[in-house]
Amino acid sequence: MTNIKERAKELNGKIIEWRRHIHRNPETGFETPMTEAFIVERLREMGIEEILEGVGKHGVTALIKGERPGKVLGMRADIDALPVKEETGLSFASVNGRMHACGHDAHVAILLGTAKMLAENRKDLPGSVKLIFQPSEENSEGAPAMISDGVLENPSMDAIIGLHTGNLWEGPSTGMVGYRYGVLMAATDWFTVTFEGKGGHGATPHLTVDPVAMACQAYIAIQTIVSRETSPLNSAVITVGSINGGSAPNVIGPSCTISGTIRSLDAGTRAMLSERLKTVCKGIAQSMRGRAEVQLITGAPPLNNDSEITDKLREAAASIVGEEAVTEIAEPTMGGEDMAFFLEKVPGCFFFLPSMPGEGEVFPHHHPKFDLDESVLWIGSAVMAHFAMTWQ
Ligand SMILES: [Zn+2]
Ligand SMILES: [Zn+2]
Repeated sequence: MTNIKERAKELNGKIIEWRRHIHRNPETGFETPMTEAFIVERLREMGIEEILEGVGKHGVTALIKGERPGKVLGMRADIDALPVKEETGLSFASVNGRMHACGHDAHVAILLGTAKMLAENRKDLPGSVKLIFQPSEENSEGAPAMISDGVLENPSMDAIIGLHTGNLWEGPSTGMVGYRYGVLMAATDWFTVTFEGKGGHGATPHLTVDPVAMACQAYIAIQTIVSRETSPLNSAVITVGSINGGSAPNVIGPSCTISGTIRSLDAGTRAMLSERLKTVCKGIAQSMRGRAEVQLITGAPPLNNDSEITDKLREAAASIVGEEAVTEIAEPTMGGEDMAFFLEKVPGCFFFLPSMPGEGEVFPHHHPKFDLDESVLWIGSAVMAHFAMTWQ
């Protein structure tokens, strides 16, 4: 067996080249045909034969069969970008008005690096590795779409791993690997509430039923679902991200719409928050002589890491970067990740590869100036490849 760590370092130039190509040509949501074609070409070059295109519209799966007997391991990378106009000024900046502002370009390149090493080491690879390149992570729709296209079958997976790079977590710094047992990321749900009343003149509010007033009351009241009805030791978020109502200073409009996101770390809290939001909004509207239409959209569940797989991931990471550079992430994040849909069905581990740029200001994910440190991408490839060689 080749030395995975040394081979991954050698491959980093290639990994960076792949990342830059994808970075220059970002695609969003399910509309990722160029990225799909690029991935398929690279996998074919590596001599990987069992490639399936068009899974979850423009996702790709591929199976690398080891020559030793064993179980099936899944590895997932998300491949979608964002509708953000890039302002990094990088030589390989986006050319089409969209942007890889979350690092998913690096995720694709890292998994291609892993695939290359595994294809080179088929003789020593136990079982099989199923590569999953998934579109549409940013709106939590890609994983369910791939699942309904059969990604969990033929063959079914015994474990699954994946990573996020960038600067999402506090604690670990560039060159380290962060992991966490149990819940790592929040359930992500969405709501839109339309308050309906009766429009009229701003000078005669008593002749109208004011939907803006209802929305204002509801805005305050729904915060008490977190502050008064959720245990202070439990984490929950309800954010109202938009309020839209009215058209002129002296007009009371007929409706006002609020929308936002709900985050929670367990199923019970998750169900309670949605249910109470609905009841509170409807109740406030009714008490103010109007009505509320509540639309709830269910996103990704909480992301839960399996203890046994996480143990093995931690060991694989330590053998690549050393024990001292592997660290437990102290707290879950209220950010969401649709890898959670896979982890609901298959035990596994989603881990973190920090890659903050060494110089200049560090911009957050989804920012037009977001960038990452490419020099550590090989670590992601090496940890995943080493895990595949040693986990069973
Ligand atoms: Zn993102
Ligand atoms: Zn992301």
